[in-house]
Amino acid sequence: MTPVDLLDLDSLLDDEERQIRSVVRRLVDDRVRPHVADWYERGHVPARELAREFGRLGLLGMHLTGYGCAGSTAVAYGLACLELEAGDSGVRSLVSVQGSLAMYAIWRYGSEEQKQRWLPAMATGEAIGCFGLTEPDHGSDPASMATRARRDGDDWLLHGGKMWITNAPVADVAVIWARAEEGVRGFAVPLGTPGVSVREIRRKMSLRASLTGEIALDDVRLPADALLPGAAGLKAPLSCLTEARHGIVWGALGAARDCLETTLAYAGTRTQFGRPLAGFQLTQAKLADMAVEWQKGFLLALHLGRLADAGKLRPEQVSVGKLNNVREALAIARQCRTILGANGVSGEYPIMRHANNLESVLTYEGTSEIHQLVIGQRLTGLSAFA
Ligand SMILES: Cc1cc2nc3c(=O)[nH]c(=O)nc-3n(C[C@H](O)[C@H](O)[C@H](O)COP(=O)(O)OP(=O)(O)OC[C@H]3O[C@@H](n4cnc5c(N)ncnc54)[C@H](O)[C@@H]3O)c2cc1C
Repeated sequence: MTPVDLLDLDSLLDDEERQIRSVVRRLVDDRVRPHVADWYERGHVPARELAREFGRLGLLGMHLTGYGCAGSTAVAYGLACLELEAGDSGVRSLVSVQGSLAMYAIWRYGSEEQKQRWLPAMATGEAIGCFGLTEPDHGSDPASMATRARRDGDDWLLHGGKMWITNAPVADVAVIWARAEEGVRGFAVPLGTPGVSVREIRRKMSLRASLTGEIALDDVRLPADALLPGAAGLKAPLSCLTEARHGIVWGALGAARDCLETTLAYAGTRTQFGRPLAGFQLTQAKLADMAVEWQKGFLLALHLGRLADAGKLRPEQVSVGKLNNVREALAIARQCRTILGANGVSGEYPIMRHANNLESVLTYEGTSEIHQLVIGQRLTGLSAFA
């Protein structure tokens, strides 16, 4: 229960969902909150250590079934994302990329052998995965990707490069999307394969408690069984993005909740002109508007989660959630920042870190503009992408 739960939305969750949420919240309180400001400042996070802890709790590939995965509902997974992101968007990204992008791609499109090889180790956090779709020259328009896959006897040769890849600097396996003669195909590429090199992207001003890398692929020779046999065409990576975006719809609310709770506590104790900031009408107007937006965002996330659990969630519906909840979470973080005054820009408080993180969340997994185009296409029947 959070003070921003004006509408008693908690009552819409069942006991198991509330219990999963408390377990993740406790983990974040113990293992993330005390350290995250320091990780953020140093631009480094103990990703392997965290992955093992998250794995022990069943958070990696949590909504998948079999192969050591927890098989939870989409709503339970969403609540876990919300609690993780209340700690930090970068920490939630570690879990989302592992479970919703890398593991999901192998789980949905991989051969039985690939699933046995990777998924149990990824579920425990012993192996870390990443997902390479974006390239230096191709972000919002992955259909134009330049990375090529060509057959050489029974083998495949991969050539090209991927950019902005979360987890890449610590990953054991990358799901790489490349254009072959017959269309876009996916490959499970062990990162120790000759010809693969990873460079960490430093000096990010956002998502600093997340490791991001560039992957160069220089005629990488892969055996035939590196191909994900079920993934044919761009719709395969796009389906993985739909999975991950659903987690973001919830996660962004976590960052916003942490900002709101911090701000409520601050405004209640900080005194100016002889009264707490919380007692000024202008402050209350800000707090009321933010709490209303947060509640609407939660209702939206829960509705989409229930649709996902009923097997009825459509990609453009996820776009509605991603567009709204990240945009509103960022607006909440910025507004909270104003209420903390100068302390709002200090790393002693989480607000500026959340606001900076949400800038990345706004851009990755489809920018706001791309989600507007998806929704616009659904409304009008006309594609305005190009
Ligand atoms: C921290 C971080 C982690 C990331 N992790 C991953 C990862 O793990 N794997 C991965 O594959 N990618 C990852 N990404 C990449 C991310 O998905 C891309 O940045 C995103 O898709 C946008 O691509 P771009 O940055 O090339 O921007 P561009 O595509 O160049 O877009 C720039 C601007 O133009 C707008 N624009 C583009 N096309 C149109 C259009 N048709 N109409 C109107 N406006 C348009 C965009 O909305 C945006 O505002 C990550 C990015 C960040 C910042």
